[in-house]
This record gives sequence, structure tokens and C-alpha cells, in this order.
Amino acid sequence: MVRFATGVSPAPRARVQAMKEYHPPLGSREGLRLDFNENTVACSPCVREVLVQISGGALTLYPEREPVEAMVAAHLGLRADQVALTNGVDEAIHVLFEAFLEAGDEFLLPVPTYTMYEVYASATDARTVAVQAADDLQLPFDRLLEAITPRTKVIAIANPNSPSGSVSERAQLLALAERAPHAVLLVDEAYHHFYGETVMDLVGAIPNLVVARTFSKAYGLAGLRLGLLAGSAELMRWVRRVLSPYSVNSLALACLPPALEDAAYLDWYVGEVLAARGEFEAALDLAGLRRWPSRANFVLVQIGARHTEFVRHMRAAGVLVRDRSRDPGCDGRVRITIGTREQMAFAVVALEQTMAALRAGSETQ
Ligand code: PMP
Repeated sequence: MVRFATGVSPAPRARVQAMKEYHPPLGSREGLRLDFNENTVACSPCVREVLVQISGGALTLYPEREPVEAMVAAHLGLRADQVALTNGVDEAIHVLFEAFLEAGDEFLLPVPTYTMYEVYASATDARTVAVQAADDLQLPFDRLLEAITPRTKVIAIANPNSPSGSVSERAQLLALAERAPHAVLLVDEAYHHFYGETVMDLVGAIPNLVVARTFSKAYGLAGLRLGLLAGSAELMRWVRRVLSPYSVNSLALACLPPALEDAAYLDWYVGEVLAARGEFEAALDLAGLRRWPSRANFVLVQIGARHTEFVRHMRAAGVLVRDRSRDPGCDGRVRITIGTREQMAFAVVALEQTMAALRAGSETQ
């Protein structure tokens, strides 16, 4: 009889042992979802139509990403060998770091920013060099330039950034790429559609530039998991070695063309969000709450010591928001996603109720 040893378990790599588990706080999301920067309505009806027509037979096939990749590349004005579709931008970040970061390398990152950069970097043998933004949460450009060393291998910049909504200027991104030709400059344009500016046109022209885009935000397809990486054919060749050939599933691939084609839907949604953002910012100002100027579909708000209570009250009033207090330099700050004007009018009511409840609470303390 085979005997199994008890109390023995294979050990993962040391770096994996040191990693923290990351669990996004998704549980019981009843209410208006202003917590994850998703589209707060739906994807385009054209995408839904394609989705419901997918046959059982079609699902028996392995997904074929190349034709869709070529289509997306053409849409972006790029060549097919400059674009790779991924299972969301998260997979794009993961494969890029797996392809480029190793022992002795430095991963340069302005903080606060999107959490998953540090998570995936911590799974490699590279060292993360975090550069803290000042209180205005603008890109700490000069200090990033100073932090570049011969060991810098990847620099990640979300543009617009999260949780602040601040943006980097094109000239700043160009300067970083120029100063670190031995490093990959990842410009994550997940929130591109709410901002409008891009460096996608520089892909190929700047050999070390890689741009990421997602279909999770403006397009409303976070559940399908669809993103992309665009870079010079030389860089993308390495990325493709690491990328699973089937990580983007058939449903996502089928939905991508109608999503791209329905420009009217995207324009409508982005227009709604931008109008709603202005109105919501005015309401925050009226409430006397400090906020950071945002070019994305969310706004970071200073709540202060009672941030946990604020989030709880907002939830009770039917609105989910995201506490970002644990982000470096963000103590007491809460991020609120912007939805449609109608949704944000509801959020303003919840905000007023919450602020009144907090005031009443502090009077009785
Ligand atoms: N980049 C940034 C800056 C983000 O905020 C997010 C999502 N919250 C992502 C990437 C991940 O996008 P995806 O859903 O495509 O993995």
C-alpha cells in the first residue's frame, strides 16, 4: 500500500511565500456600485445580441485570438504583431512582468497607484522601488527620473492614475522612456476613454513603450475579462512567449468586434460620466469635502478619520464606495466611481444623508 507522508507540503518559491494574498472586497455588492470603477449601466446592446447568439457548437472550439487581434490592431492604427489581447489588463501586467523582471532588476512605480502592479511584481525576483507622490497626488516626475538606475527594468504609469484620477503629460512619459531605454515603460490607459489623450500613436516609434487598454471600464465588459497590450513587435514577441494562447475566451473574442463598432454607445456612456462627474464634484465642493481633480470615471475624496463609518453609511443609503485609506499617502480617503447623471443624483442624496449622520454622530459623542 502507498503511504503518504503527513505534515509535509511542497514549498513555493521564496518570493511567493513572502507575497500577501490579494482579495478584492467584492462580497455582497447590493446597491449602486460606485466601488470598482466599472461601467455602472451595461455593455452595448450590440454586444449582448452577439453574446446570446453564440451556439453550443462554437463553444466546442478553442478560441482563436489572431483574427480578432488583427482587427483590434487595425482599429488602433497598429500592425497585428504590435498587439496582444489579454485576459484583462491584469493578465497583461502579469505576463509583461513575467517576461521582463528578474533577480537584480528594479521595478519603478509611483505610488499611490493601481494595486496589482505591486502584487505581480512581488511574484518576480525583482525589487520594487516605490516613489511616493506629494499630497497633490500628481505624478512625482522629477523624483521618478532621479530614481532611474541601470537596474530599472520596468516602469509602470497608470494614465489616468487610480485612485487619484491625476494624469501624466505626454512630454513626461516621453522623457521617462528616453531616460530609461533599457527599461519597459508601461503606460496603462485603462481609463483612456474618460481622458481622451493617449500615447498609443507612439507605439513602435518608441521602442521601449508598451500601452495597455481594457474593455472593463467604458465598454462595460469587466466580467468578460478583456484587455490588450500594444508595443513594438520586438517587445511583443517576448510577451507572447509567456502569454497563454487561450487566455482570452471565445465569448470575449466574439464580443470584441461589436464593442469596438458601437462607437455611439461608448460616446453616450462617456458623455454621461463626464457630465455626471462635474455635477458630483460640485456637490462634493458644496459639502466642503476636499477632492482631487480627476480625468477618469471616479473621484478621490478626503473624508478623514471617520472613513470607515462614511463607507458604512453610504452602503446603508444604497451606494457602494471604496475606502482607499490603506493606499500609501491616502489615509482617510475614499474613492467614488462616477456613473450616469441619474445615478449620481442618487449618490448625492446618499452623500448628504451620510454627512448629516456623521455630523449627528459627532454631536452625540
Ligand atoms: N489598470 C488600472 C489602472 C485599473 O484601475 C484596473 C482595474 N481596476 C485595471 C488595470 C484592471 O483592468 P482589467 O479589468 O482589464 O484587468
